[in-house]
Amino acid sequence: MKPRVLLVNPPGKEIYFRDIFHSFSSKGCYLWQPTDLVFLSGRLRNDFDLEIIDAIAERAEPGVVYSRLHGKSYHAIIGLAGSVSFHSDIAFFEKLTEITGSRLILMGDLIRYQFRQVLTRYPFVHACIDDFSSEDIAAYLKDENSVEKPRAMAIRRNGGFTQTIPLATTKCINIPVPRHELFPLHAYRLPNNRTRPMATILGSVGCPFPCGYCSQSTRNYKYREAENILEEIEYLQTLGVREILFRDQLVEAVPKNFVALLEGIVRKKWRLGWTCNSRVDTLKREWLPLMRAAGCHTIIFGVENPSQRILDEWNTKKCNDETKALFEEVRKNGIDPCGYFILGLPGETKEDVLRTIDYAVYLNPALTSFSLPSPDFGTKLREMAIQKGILTDHLDNSDRSVDATLLNDKIAPGELQKLRSLAYRRFYFRPRYFLSSLRSVRSWTQFRYHASEFLHMAKGLFLAY
Ligand code: SF4
Repeated sequence: MKPRVLLVNPPGKEIYFRDIFHSFSSKGCYLWQPTDLVFLSGRLRNDFDLEIIDAIAERAEPGVVYSRLHGKSYHAIIGLAGSVSFHSDIAFFEKLTEITGSRLILMGDLIRYQFRQVLTRYPFVHACIDDFSSEDIAAYLKDENSVEKPRAMAIRRNGGFTQTIPLATTKCINIPVPRHELFPLHAYRLPNNRTRPMATILGSVGCPFPCGYCSQSTRNYKYREAENILEEIEYLQTLGVREILFRDQLVEAVPKNFVALLEGIVRKKWRLGWTCNSRVDTLKREWLPLMRAAGCHTIIFGVENPSQRILDEWNTKKCNDETKALFEEVRKNGIDPCGYFILGLPGETKEDVLRTIDYAVYLNPALTSFSLPSPDFGTKLREMAIQKGILTDHLDNSDRSVDATLLNDKIAPGELQKLRSLAYRRFYFRPRYFLSSLRSVRSWTQFRYHASEFLHMAKGLFLAY
């Protein structure tokens, strides 16, 4: 019999995301699979008998999870803990270790950076994972002492703990097919989905670009080969999953591998719809017909800001000159372009923010999101927040949407929140947007998801006043 391992996304008062080295609460009704756990469910499937609890997706209260696990014990529990909910996460896991008597391993943004404090203060935590894609996690679970210096994790050992050692760069990280069937797939959704259930695939970890406001730039880039990802899609087809989110930060980061993936999907003639993340300066227009043929219906672009000066200041290495033309080309190919924007980076004025809002309206993407600059772990923004005394290196909860407003000394905190509300009102409450949105609806599921996201946003804006 294989040893039993439990993977847990803990409960939360709100919809929390704690995966891929950052954490935040949902601004809408959307939710994807906790990607680190999906990845680990593949990595560990051959050697361990896995159970998975996604308490966020199930909206399960801590008490419900405790009763479900009463009388059970595991070789190990691997849990996500995020800075957005750290205090409730750690209290939940302490109780879980009491109930099950199991060894606890944690991962998440705060765990990655503050593992020393976590291992010192919480004796029930046995190890902290720095990078969930490390092969050493499985080796450690098989035999705690087999890995003398484990990579990408810190382990309690000999009265102290080992230090984390980073993984190599551009390493291939193929994995056995993740255990998607153990997740509540019907609970996951994105506003532009055509159908349900939806699964999340992670084809790469990290990002090769160095944008100073983004936690993904702090991770060595690693990817899975196209064939390895195709095996996962094939398995999802057997589960009846026709809707996929590719959670890679930049789906085309290794162009040859990306094209091989697209060609593989087309060759298999799978019925599939999917969403991915891309960059305006790395997505080649000639790929668009192949992407559409492979089922892509939505591309999310991090547009961020119209000003080249600001993009350069934050080391994004990109230019938005061609963005309008690219969005038109994406649309012509039957794919919806979506745009992410950041409002109020340090140094920006109110006028700069208003220009970004105008730019979003001018581009008119199918969906948009306006973020405030978030001092995520490992970023230049976090260094600034610590220097200014907004954040400390203590083990505290940190809500990025609140901390963010304090970073910009040219715009008052309340003013920045108001500008963000204005951005949503100006973008979404336009007859042109309403009509183009109606025209782009392809299914009843998509219509329902759009409508519920819209109502959720409208309620949030209304309550803000
Ligand atoms: S903002 Fe996008 S391109 Fe830049 S580091 Fe983050 S994921 Fe990569």
